[in-house]
Amino acid sequence: MSDSKQSQSLKGSAERDLVALGIAIAAIILFVATGGAVLPKAINSIITGAAGPDTLLVNALLLNVVLVIFGWRRYRELKLEISDRREAENLARKLSETDPLTGCLNRRSMAKVTDEVRTRANARGLAVAYCLIDLDNFKQINDMHGHPVGDAALVELAKRINQVLPTGGTLARIGGDEFAFVTEFDPHQPERVDDLVIRLFEAMALPFDLDCVTVEATISIGVTSDQDTCQFDAKMSCPDALMHRADIAMYQAKNAGKNRYFWFEPSMESELRFRNKLEVGIRAGLHAGEFEPFYEQQVDLETGELVGFEMLARWHSPQMGLVSPEIFIPVAEEIGVISELSDQLIERALLDAHEWDDTLTLSINVSPVQLRDPWFAQKLLKLLVKHNFPARRLEVEVTESCLHDNIDMVRSIITSLRNQGVQVSLDDFGTGYSSLEQLRTLPFDRLKIDRSFVRELSSPSAKSTIVDAIVSLGRGLDLPMTAEGIEDEIILDQLKKLGKLKGQGFLYGQPESAMQVRERLSKLGQLATSATKQGDAQPDSRDQQAVSPPSRQAG
Ligand code: C2E
Ligand code: CA
Ligand code: CA
Repeated sequence: MSDSKQSQSLKGSAERDLVALGIAIAAIILFVATGGAVLPKAINSIITGAAGPDTLLVNALLLNVVLVIFGWRRYRELKLEISDRREAENLARKLSETDPLTGCLNRRSMAKVTDEVRTRANARGLAVAYCLIDLDNFKQINDMHGHPVGDAALVELAKRINQVLPTGGTLARIGGDEFAFVTEFDPHQPERVDDLVIRLFEAMALPFDLDCVTVEATISIGVTSDQDTCQFDAKMSCPDALMHRADIAMYQAKNAGKNRYFWFEPSMESELRFRNKLEVGIRAGLHAGEFEPFYEQQVDLETGELVGFEMLARWHSPQMGLVSPEIFIPVAEEIGVISELSDQLIERALLDAHEWDDTLTLSINVSPVQLRDPWFAQKLLKLLVKHNFPARRLEVEVTESCLHDNIDMVRSIITSLRNQGVQVSLDDFGTGYSSLEQLRTLPFDRLKIDRSFVRELSSPSAKSTIVDAIVSLGRGLDLPMTAEGIEDEIILDQLKKLGKLKGQGFLYGQPESAMQVRERLSKLGQLATSATKQGDAQPDSRDQQAVSPPSRQAG
């Protein structure tokens, strides 16, 4: 019923109630008046046989009786109506304060409860801890098993948290899969809060049995207190500020790998600000073409001959200067722009590599996130066609971490690429957990020995058993190998003793821009013949191309 209709009907019924009340009162007064005149006469007539009361008066008395009965019934109805209305009001208030799915408080009422608990605790010299709990794999549960199972998981989570909460602790659902509660504690014993949080993790140990499916669930928790700032500050202890700080601490827990908890620390806030700056900067940098491919030489260790380049991303941020891919790639992955970023870089690299001698290869790194796209191979092959770049010159480097995600998808992507002539190598080999079975069954063309192992060869007496073992393994599997991180002649000499290998590292130079590579190749006489001609005629044209993003060139 609409609000205006509801208020009209309430007004109408209130008016009717007033009329009924007026009638009942008038009836009672009349009953007393007529009853006083009629009843003695009637009793007298029954006892002595004298003349009875006047018929008109008797009728009036009877009418009064009817009216009193009517008034009484209306009064009973009114009482019932009032109790119904009260119940409806209570229900409406409860609905507006609770989450219908889990029965917990909702976000709005949590603020009120937080304030109440804090005021009570502070009056007794106690502090409050605000805990924010987030289910780690909720999206995955929803995607894999459907929303009814996702809902059941939330209900089960709320149940398990409630079982651990101290008496009087009130749980609220403040977002999709986010729950919060506030509890008082002695500020000299914050470890009590740690104990409570640890019990929450223990409560998650058993898998959730939901609607014929069993799911493993983990949680991340952020904790803060109203007294973790040195001085008490009312603004810092208001419910919003507590929630904000618990949220930052929870974010830290997620970032550190999930399934853990953190107390809020002020430094987290500046980290988060930096992180936001990165996110905004990356998005803007994508539009402005601030990402640029650099190239690291790859060499045949036996002959010392340059055989190709590995493309490494660089970001020229107007605010932060030159930013390392180790900083911006993980953020680009998380905010969902890694494919766009990678495509931009690959297109520029394909244009650059066109200028090199046809025998030189181009290696590119792809992120595990890109390999979750079933169309990845098709999209990459389309780029090769667009830029008329021979597939045999391209090498795709996938890291071991890619193999944890969805091995079947990765296998089909690798197979599609290889069928078209693209080489696929396993990067950072030895740092992840690829099994021998995966190595045997995944059709890699090459293993790249991680630089952390190669570094161990840097003293003349050093002997890296790990490098030896990896090289023997590669030989056993008949896989060519590349050693990364060759920083000096000592490492190079040791590697040369291990047989035929490709290698790369600072010994051969730092990663260089397209222009520097072009100069290097020009000196070595390894530029494509057409590029030499073009370069001789227009020395600056290539540099122009290197700094503008391919999308603009295409457009
Ligand atoms: P990576 O694939 O292992 O690349 C080699 C890294 O080792 C590069 O760091 C390179 O500068 C560095 N390096 C090369 N030679 C030496 C050496 O002799 N000693 C030492 N200590 N380091 C050496 P960079 O450029 O900072 O790249 C870091 C990582 O970022 C790369 O590791 C790669 O995993 C990732 N990355 C770079 N570009 C891309 C990209 O376009 N897409 C993706 N998904 N990842 C990228
Ligand atoms: Ca690599
Ligand atoms: Ca590597």
